[in-house]
Amino acid sequence: MIELRIYNTLTKRKEDLKVPRGNKLKIFVCGPTVYDYCHLGHARTFIAFDAIAKYLRFKGCDLFFLMNITDVAEKLIEKSREVGMNFLELSKKFERYFHEDLDSLGIDSIDVFARASDHITGIIEQIQKLIEDGFAYETDTGVYFNVKKFPDYGRLSNQTKDEISLRPLELCLTKKNPEDFSLWRKVEKEPVWDSPWGSGRPGWHIEDTAIAVKWLGSQYELHGGAIELIFPHHEAEIAQGEAFGGKKPYVKYWAHTGLLKIDRRKMSKSLENMISIRDFMKYYDRKVLRYYFLSTHYRRSVNFNEKEIKKSEANIKSIEDVIRNFKNLPEGKDFSDKLGLVEDIENFEREFIKSMDDDFDTSKALRIISRIAYRLRTFTKNHKEIEKTSKKKILKIVIKLARIFGILDF
Ligand SMILES: [Zn+2]
Repeated sequence: MIELRIYNTLTKRKEDLKVPRGNKLKIFVCGPTVYDYCHLGHARTFIAFDAIAKYLRFKGCDLFFLMNITDVAEKLIEKSREVGMNFLELSKKFERYFHEDLDSLGIDSIDVFARASDHITGIIEQIQKLIEDGFAYETDTGVYFNVKKFPDYGRLSNQTKDEISLRPLELCLTKKNPEDFSLWRKVEKEPVWDSPWGSGRPGWHIEDTAIAVKWLGSQYELHGGAIELIFPHHEAEIAQGEAFGGKKPYVKYWAHTGLLKIDRRKMSKSLENMISIRDFMKYYDRKVLRYYFLSTHYRRSVNFNEKEIKKSEANIKSIEDVIRNFKNLPEGKDFSDKLGLVEDIENFEREFIKSMDDDFDTSKALRIISRIAYRLRTFTKNHKEIEKTSKKKILKIVIKLARIFGILDF
C-alpha cells in the first residue's frame, strides 16, 4: 500500500491518500488555453504537479497523468480574428510553444495531452445526457447547466447558495438562474460545430469533463490546477462529472497551487505584468526556476522576487559543486560507514520522504537536500578518500532525490 497525506480542497483538510500497490492512480491537471505564450504563473503550477507526479512514481505508484489543452475558447477565437489567422493554426502554433516551454522546464511526467477540439463528440454526448436527466436545458442562446439541480454546487469553493447567486456568470437573459453556466453556445460564425442544438461551440468547463471522462472514466483520484480555477471552473466540472457519470465524488482529491504574484498582485495577462517562460529562460537555467518554485509549498502563494531567484541560483550551484567534489573524491579504504556518513544520508532520505508524504512539502524536502549537501561538503573537506560502495550508495540516494525535483544535471 502506498500511503501519504494530501490536503483536499473538497474537504478542506489533510487526508490519507492510499493506493494499493499495482493500482493505477489517475491524475488530471488543467492545461493552458493555447492563444499566447505561457507565463511563469503557468510554470509554477506545472512544475508543482511535475514534482508531485515524479514523487508519486518514486513511491511506486502506477500513475497516469493527463493534461488537457484548451484549443476551443472564445478568447482564442477572438485573437485569431484579430491577427487574421485560422483559429486552429493559431492554437497549433501556441501549443507547439507550450510543449517547447515544458521541455525547457524539464516537465516530462505527463502521459497524455488531450485537445478539446478532438473531443467535440464526447462533449455533445455529455450535454445530451445532462439535458435528458434534467440537469441542463436549452434556450435561444445555447444550453446551460441548471446549478439549482445540483445540491452540492458550491461545496468545493466553500460558498452557500446565496453567495453563489451573487456571482452571476455569463450575462444572458435566457438563463433560468444567473449563476447557471454555459455548456453549448449557439453561434453561426465560424469556427462552429454541428450539434442537436444547431451550430455552435462548447463551453470551457464541459471540455475538461468530456476529456477526463474519456481518458479516466467517471471517477478518478486526483485533479489539480491553479487556485483561481476553483470557481467556477472546477465547481462546474464536479457538477457535470457527477451529474453525468453518477459517481460521487467524481474526483476524490482536489489539489490547488497558490498564486504567483508580482509586486503583490497576481501575475496575469489582464494585468499585463506577466513574464513569459521563454523570456525568463533566456537568463536562467530551468533548475533555478524549479528550485525557486519548489522552495515554497505548492499551496502557498509566491511573490516573484529576483533577489530570491539569484539566491536559488547560488544554492543550486553550491549543491552541484558539493556533489561534483564528492563524486571526484578518490576511492580508497576509508570506511565512511564508521563515520556514519551513509547512515546520515539514509536518515536524510527518510526525512525527505516524510516531508513529501506530508502534503508534498517540497519546501522542507529541499532544505533536507541542502543539509545533505552540507554533510557531504564537510566530509569531502576532511577526507582524502572514500570507500567505493559507500560512495556509490550515497550518490545513488542523492541523485534519486534530486531527480524528483529536477534540480541537478547529474
Ligand atoms: Zn480545466
